[in-house]
Amino acid sequence: MAASSTTSIDRLKIQLEDVEVVFDVGTSVITALESYSLDIAEGEFVAVLGPSGCGKSTSLNLLAGFDHASAGNVLVNGNPIVKPGPERGVVFQNANLLPWLSVWENIVFGPKVKGLSEKQYRARAEELISLVKLDGFEKHLPGQLSGGMQQRASIARALINDPDVLLMDEPFGALDAQTRISMQELLLRIWEDDKRTVMFITHDIDEALLLADRVVIMTGRPGRIREEISVDFDRPRTYQVTSSPEFQQLKQHALGLLHD
Ligand code: ADP
Repeated sequence: MAASSTTSIDRLKIQLEDVEVVFDVGTSVITALESYSLDIAEGEFVAVLGPSGCGKSTSLNLLAGFDHASAGNVLVNGNPIVKPGPERGVVFQNANLLPWLSVWENIVFGPKVKGLSEKQYRARAEELISLVKLDGFEKHLPGQLSGGMQQRASIARALINDPDVLLMDEPFGALDAQTRISMQELLLRIWEDDKRTVMFITHDIDEALLLADRVVIMTGRPGRIREEISVDFDRPRTYQVTSSPEFQQLKQHALGLLHD
């Protein structure tokens, strides 16, 4: 376990270079991000932590292609991001499943839109359903599932496109405490299996420190990066790590930065 302000970046996957985002809201402008620079290496799990309204979602939306920088560069694999793409999977706080489609149809929606045949996606879809523990619920409609199950389906829906990058915006924010912990542990198992590049937005310190390799702490608006903390707890991790003295020490450090 160690805290440091920099992490060595081997293979850059995500680059946000001196980004500024200004929203024109008619009578005034809101500067959501200013001088915002963040690199994420291939296979790295980075959590972005900060107070409400500091620009966390905006930073993720830039990478998703939903928002656009007023200045600076937003690059994935060295390419500027201009619009959403299947190589960047997004999971939101609300599962956003199509309510009239079954779990199965929601999960295979992406490959179908791409024109793949069932033969091409069936095995992977079955594998993912099993991975997110939804076996037997393939024919259910989203409305027949709990919040946690819906969110598990939305993770499978993102993973079926085999994205280079997984962008997760408070994906467990709407879940009760117990479900949240089991989702965090499930995400740890999924991530530790294939180490996809992840940017994970949260305002929950425990969640950030439990999941990530590095936690980026933002200032209040306009959002800038306050400090980056390396989180070196052994993997595979379980929720038990949160009760270790090292974890509590790092948490106090992060709390101090957030409340400063
Ligand atoms: P966070 O995710 O940290 O809560 P956001 O990125 O959602 O913060 O928002 C940062 C700031 O930018 C907030 O003040 C928010 O009101 C503003 N903002 C975000 N999106 C828009 C938008 N589309 N139009 C105008 N203001 C926006």
